[in-house]
Amino acid sequence: MNESARVAVVGAGAVGLTTAFDLAERGARVTLFERDAPGGGSTGRAAGICYDAYAEDIDVAVADRAMARFRSLSGEGGFTFHETPYVFLAREGDDAAAAALEESVERMRVHDRAVSLVGADELADRFPIRTDDVLLAGVAENAGWADPAAYADLFVEKCESAGVEFRVGDAVSLRTDPPGVAVDDVVTARFDAVVVAAGVHSRRLLADAGHPIALKPYRAQALVADCDYRGPTVYDATDESYLRPHPGGVLAGDGVEPVEPDPDDWDPTADDWFVADALDAVRHRATVGDAGGSELELDRAWAGLCGATPDRNPLVGAVADGVYVAAGWHGHGFMWSPAIGERLAEAVLGDGRASIPDAFDPRRFDGDEEFAVVEGMTLDGE
Ligand SMILES: Cc1cc2nc3c(=O)[nH]c(=O)nc-3n(C[C@H](O)[C@H](O)[C@H](O)COP(=O)(O)OP(=O)(O)OC[C@H]3O[C@@H](n4cnc5c(N)ncnc54)[C@H](O)[C@@H]3O)c2cc1C
Repeated sequence: MNESARVAVVGAGAVGLTTAFDLAERGARVTLFERDAPGGGSTGRAAGICYDAYAEDIDVAVADRAMARFRSLSGEGGFTFHETPYVFLAREGDDAAAAALEESVERMRVHDRAVSLVGADELADRFPIRTDDVLLAGVAENAGWADPAAYADLFVEKCESAGVEFRVGDAVSLRTDPPGVAVDDVVTARFDAVVVAAGVHSRRLLADAGHPIALKPYRAQALVADCDYRGPTVYDATDESYLRPHPGGVLAGDGVEPVEPDPDDWDPTADDWFVADALDAVRHRATVGDAGGSELELDRAWAGLCGATPDRNPLVGAVADGVYVAAGWHGHGFMWSPAIGERLAEAVLGDGRASIPDAFDPRRFDGDEEFAVVEGMTLDGE
């Protein structure tokens, strides 16, 4: 496709905004369609945790590029990337998690990740967190966090400077032969290619246009609590919870619900059980040294949707001639978006496959597969 191609991007989350900018930077004439506000979907609800602690070649390549780009963007507009190590741990008595952790750290090190395996004492020497219950921990140095809303704001500005046309306020539907986008069944314009980056709504959009994809939404939750936490990002594999420093104190999350919500009718408020559990998890981990977890006060809590696929790899690439999808991130869509935008832009403007690995090809599934949702943050390095 020639570089001055007309491309529609549907969805102004982290993925759609980055892709729209990367397409425009390469000369494409881009229109970005967003039904609500840019960054107002899952992106505005994400915890913003980023790391390169992966064990598969493609995940490592994507994470490496994403981390480098986050760092190079840091300081632009209101966006900051905060360098913060990522600690993932198994508690005493959880031998299965410790074994999985050890194995995943070994695989990460084969891929040259800066990850070490430490015991409770070494962890206590380094970080102001409770460690007396820790059996084994991994520490990933190449990690940090950023505010996903600030990233979205920055990319709105960058898209505008690069000439991307924004069409905000209408939910669009798809036309696939030829590629196009319609509002209230009226086709808005012809495009050479359409990229669907509509998060968990991508499934319905594509299915209505005759291209089912294997994507299931699931609900995840997070909260911000007021306290003085200056420790690392911590994922407790035994408790299946995480926390990271936040300007307001601490951000804690998980609360994954094992039921499939309707992406157009779901509860965006956090459940009481989640708030109680997450505050307990913070009190448990952040009560030593400078952490001051005992002074904990809930600031706000919320829920959001993530997308799952049968094999936990995302769906990135063409589903039909000139029609592309980028969805199914298992809770990693923010941290991968800087790398996915570039690869997708090159694929759309190049030969359609150039920089997207087969492992991400959305057509590896028929779209009608039965599968159970496995959430993103686990110990197997994915
Ligand atoms: C509680 C929670 C914590 C998370 N923490 C992390 C984390 O720490 N790190 C991480 O990497 N990821 C995290 N995630 C996952 C992350 O939020 C997503 O993977 C990421 O935001 C996906 O971005 P996206 O651009 O694909 O989708 P979205 O941000 O959902 O954007 C899709 C956009 O498409 C628009 N849209 C949908 N349908 C239409 C239509 N028909 N017409 C026009 N527009 C449409 C929507 O309004 C939306 O703005 C978390 C998610 C949750 C819920």
